[in-house]
Amino acid sequence: MSRLSLLTGVVGTAVLASVPLFTGNPYYIHMVGTIMIYAILLFGLDIVVGYTGQVSLGHAGLFGVGSYTAGVLFLKLGLPLWLIIPASIGVTAAFGALLALPALRVTGPYLAMVTLAFGTIIQILINEMDFLTEGPLGIKVPKPSIAGVQLDEHGFYWLVLALMVLSLVVVDRILKSQLGRAFEALRGSPVASDCMGVSVYMYKVFAFVVSAGFAGLAGCLYAYSEQYISPNTYNFELTVLFLLAVIMGGRKSRAGSLLGAAIIVILPKLLDDLEMFRMVSSGLALLMALGAGIAVWRQKTTVREMALPVVGTLALALFSYWLESITDWRLSIFGLMILFVVYYLQDGIVGFVRSLWLRKATRHSGQSYADVDAGQDAIMVAANTGQVGEGQDLLIAKGVLMQFGGLKAINQVDLRVKRGTIHGLIGPNGSGKSTMMNVLTGIYVPTGGSIEFAGRSVVGRTSSDIALSGIARTFQNVQLFGEMTALQNVQVGLHHSFASNILDVAVHSPRYRREEAASVARGLGLIQFVGLADLANEEARNLPYGKQRLLEIARALALDPQLLLLDEPAAGLTAPDIKELVTIIRKIRDHGITVILIEHHMDVVMGICDAVSVLDFGQKIADGKPAEVQADPKVIEAYLGGSAA
Ligand code: ADP
Ligand code: MG
Repeated sequence: MSRLSLLTGVVGTAVLASVPLFTGNPYYIHMVGTIMIYAILLFGLDIVVGYTGQVSLGHAGLFGVGSYTAGVLFLKLGLPLWLIIPASIGVTAAFGALLALPALRVTGPYLAMVTLAFGTIIQILINEMDFLTEGPLGIKVPKPSIAGVQLDEHGFYWLVLALMVLSLVVVDRILKSQLGRAFEALRGSPVASDCMGVSVYMYKVFAFVVSAGFAGLAGCLYAYSEQYISPNTYNFELTVLFLLAVIMGGRKSRAGSLLGAAIIVILPKLLDDLEMFRMVSSGLALLMALGAGIAVWRQKTTVREMALPVVGTLALALFSYWLESITDWRLSIFGLMILFVVYYLQDGIVGFVRSLWLRKATRHSGQSYADVDAGQDAIMVAANTGQVGEGQDLLIAKGVLMQFGGLKAINQVDLRVKRGTIHGLIGPNGSGKSTMMNVLTGIYVPTGGSIEFAGRSVVGRTSSDIALSGIARTFQNVQLFGEMTALQNVQVGLHHSFASNILDVAVHSPRYRREEAASVARGLGLIQFVGLADLANEEARNLPYGKQRLLEIARALALDPQLLLLDEPAAGLTAPDIKELVTIIRKIRDHGITVILIEHHMDVVMGICDAVSVLDFGQKIADGKPAEVQADPKVIEAYLGGSAA
């Protein structure tokens, strides 16, 4: 955590803690308490929505599960708070798993539908199971007591604050660990995640479970805060409100969650009171104009970019004075604000502010790697099995058939790749080279044939399993995790080097600290190896295309593979970059890693390959030493017959 965010955190906590001391008004204390409770839920929802990029419309349902676990345990068993809190978290996390396991097989609109149905079912169940939940009557829950001391409004407020701060720290730690990187990676590129040994399905489910745990804690506190729970609270409107809060506040940000929580609690109240609405909208317009003015002056942005938000907030302020009564307009204003945010502030308010002030500054503020000893031989940190059994076959494919409908993209292909060699795979466009790689890495299951890697069949295994057994790859269309830095991309490849679990991460155990430090050092070493040392903290999407390809190689090497598949690594590279690339590929082989190289640049292939196989229309037409293959009439025919690339 950087010094600035630590300071903000301490000051913020102190301010929040002093709220009950300044205002004795229980209305405001309750309101701020509710904001903090919602924030706990939103920290968790942000994991699913902001980081893994999934939509959940089931979080009001999970919130309800948390509330009712607390309510029922109190009503039926009279359990104390210190048992009810973990029970609510645990039960709700279990419901999260229940929701996630089937739901995450689908994506997009279907996922939204399934989670929505889940939320509705929960609400109906709470309503119907009156033997447990008292049905529509609801349950009364008095304020809890701790160690025999009954908490009053203030005491409970401080308890909520403490748990909110704790949640914030834990969520923050999770998201900055290998777990958070896995969540973010599967959003950036699911196929690359799987091929880096990070199972997309497993981590999606995991994200839902963790997220549900926080929803459970929030729900439990909500029950005590309201002192009465009934099924109607946990409805569709609330679930949409939660989603809006994450989007409006700003995804991938704890400050965004807090802001979002404040908005959804305060805004409805604000829209009830015209005077207040006028004051706030004028203030907002003033702040906006001022902020924009300064930003333009400091050349952080252009007038054009700032025109819309300024005009928008100004229009809102003017509108507020024109209005005579607000009640008729409530929903419309709310709707307009939402539209405005969704269209113009896609990264939410926090994202917008951040983009203004941090533009051109590196993202990893406060993090310095100056003292990290990257080590010259990062690629060799984990001893490779490469030198063992040199000259033996590492990969044996026999009669591989891959059919897409009527098209045989790969037709009865045999392939033998010897350990410690660079094996070229060439052929005209559409001849099945990339398909072969997809079959080798489990993205496609071949229609027929057998593939043995290091003595074990790969057919039918998942991509992440195959990756972990030692096959790493790059992609013809670069598949980086765009919003993550170069270093973080490589660290996803190092995911396999972590044994820490979520508890280690939450408490920053020695094991976790050691593994994280090692992954930073190793990651930097690999980045240095491909010549990107200066760009370690740059977001991958901002790298030039050629550098992105090199970064993909570093990330693949992080898996400690025995076999590295490179799909047209030189495509789009300049001549000096290609030279650099050739040196890198040679070094990789010299470290004992076997390479399969798909490449169109013939000089590259002929220069560094130990053996070459040629595909044409899905069939292997030649195999052998580069010079032999080059002289083969069938090969010449295939290349001249096709587009003379
Ligand atoms: P190469 O990498 O050699 O240029 P590909 O392996 O990408 O060729 O493609 C080989 C053939 O398989 C092409 O005709 C392509 O259209 C087809 N193909 C590849 N993937 C699929 C798919 N998922 N569905 C249908 N056809 C595919
Ligand atoms: Mg291809």
